[in-house]
Amino acid sequence: MSFCVKCGAEGPVFDSVCEACFLEGKRFSRIADHVNLLQCVHCKEYAIDNKWIIHETIEGAAEEIAIDSVEVVKDAKVEEITASVLAADQANYRVHIDITMNVKGLIVEEELDTIVRLKNSVCGRCSKIKGSYFESIIQIRSRERKLKEKEVDDVLDRIDRMVCEASADNRDIFVTKVDRMVGGAGGADVYLSSNSFGKIISRDLADQYGAEVKDTAKLLTQKEGRDVYRVTYLVRLPAYRFGDVIMFRKKMYLVGPMRTSGSRLTDMKTGETINYSHIDLTDAKVIGQREDMKDAIVLMDSNREVQILHPVSMKPIELRKPNKFEVKGETVKVFLHEDEIYLIPK
Ligand SMILES: [Zn+2]
Ligand SMILES: [Zn+2]
Repeated sequence: MSFCVKCGAEGPVFDSVCEACFLEGKRFSRIADHVNLLQCVHCKEYAIDNKWIIHETIEGAAEEIAIDSVEVVKDAKVEEITASVLAADQANYRVHIDITMNVKGLIVEEELDTIVRLKNSVCGRCSKIKGSYFESIIQIRSRERKLKEKEVDDVLDRIDRMVCEASADNRDIFVTKVDRMVGGAGGADVYLSSNSFGKIISRDLADQYGAEVKDTAKLLTQKEGRDVYRVTYLVRLPAYRFGDVIMFRKKMYLVGPMRTSGSRLTDMKTGETINYSHIDLTDAKVIGQREDMKDAIVLMDSNREVQILHPVSMKPIELRKPNKFEVKGETVKVFLHEDEIYLIPK
């Protein structure tokens, strides 16, 4: 008869201690909180244990990868392992695992939980076949000005979000590659797997930025008996942006929020507002941007006029208020142009 060296109990021992002492505070198996399940967007195969394999259902693949991701300590031998899968949403699957192990002759049962996350990927074979496959190019350009890196980033982020959302439902939608234009007027080319989604994106950009879109199509191939076109969408962001000061038909205007059809302009002299279409505004010249506006301290505010400290000369100056102009706070925004100073309407 043997004794537990820890508590003195009589009976069989494991590493010189009884069963209760041996198991106390120990776990013999573990799994990560999250396990990524990669699925090829083209052939729908799953990456499990460094191989691409077919599964009838996502649940089946989630079960296999979860079991494959369980780690057990060196002395434990897995006797039995089962998993149950519950879809939390389209991309996340809760997996509960029951595991029975033999540890030095002792049978140990444990439970594990993880979340398997479905991720889009491209398998090696498909990336070879389809690596350069694209049905549309979104060309982001500007009209008569240099695009700032940040502006291009904004547009690319927006496209990325749209593609991400769409690819959750349709795995055939993905970005093949993105080329940034270096030098010149800047911009980017986004290569997309789907021409119909290219159209959706270019329309969205037209709405969001007041961009002008031109498309050209070329026959690419035939898929299931129908013609597939490769479409290039030239998306030209307007020269002006929200908050710019423009010269248009010999008057100076502040550009308001962009709409699909056009933009609302505020006359810098009179404060009157007027809507123009983007087509009308093709001739508009940007003469100032938001970062060119200066703060001026208000000295006196009356019905029709406001006295301010000129931000450059620091001399008091009186300005006639445009229509509906109101002083809010201790400073006003002004714009200096050709020795003149203008109040920026709110
Ligand atoms: Zn003991
Ligand atoms: Zn594949």
